[in-house]
Amino acid sequence: MPELLIATHNAGKLREFARLFDGLGLTLRSLDDLGITTDIEETGTTFHENARLKAEGYMQLSGLPTLADDSGLEVAALNGAPGVYSARYGGVTGLAQLEYLLKQMEGMPFHERLARFVCIIALARPGSTDVEFVEGTLPGVIEFEPRGSGGFGYDPLFYVVDEDKTLAELTPERKNEISHRAAAARAARVVLARWQTEGWQ
Ligand code: IMP
Repeated sequence: MPELLIATHNAGKLREFARLFDGLGLTLRSLDDLGITTDIEETGTTFHENARLKAEGYMQLSGLPTLADDSGLEVAALNGAPGVYSARYGGVTGLAQLEYLLKQMEGMPFHERLARFVCIIALARPGSTDVEFVEGTLPGVIEFEPRGSGGFGYDPLFYVVDEDKTLAELTPERKNEISHRAAAARAARVVLARWQTEGWQ
């Protein structure tokens, strides 16, 4: 069966991609499955650059067609911050990060708190220098205080208007249906189906 490397150490992410790519007839491998311990640094200044660095880097290390994603939160009133720096925004992580974001937005009314999650997926194949990109986004509004205990990262502050809930109040199943990552993965499915008709490698 054709193999695809999902360039992640996160078992949850791998499971989620496996569900979204169900029926394509692919065997998914993670970095851990292949024993790849080298870390490709995310030195880019855009989601596209970071996703490309990982897809190309891990494709070269594995010799397999490779999918890599890069994602983050963009707040319109903060000119797109935290963006590619989402994981280390304000130099802090966890709850302190939510507090830091709220501090940056202090005094802003609801109608100025528009934000979105962005996920860029890069797909690289051995023997080709063309990396292909697809993307998914999820619009929302940054709440005034955290709500809910599910998900991770900024989920408790991210209010999804259509659901009338924060991402942290949704079931994991529902989050995985509407998320930026799921939208990007559904688009990636189209590219992967085309690669299969072209001959996998
Ligand atoms: P990654 O590229 O998937 O590792 O995501 C980078 C950072 O973006 C994470 O560390 C989080 O801070 C943020 N992020 C990405 N996706 C989500 C999400 O679905 N919920 C909450 N935070 C997210």
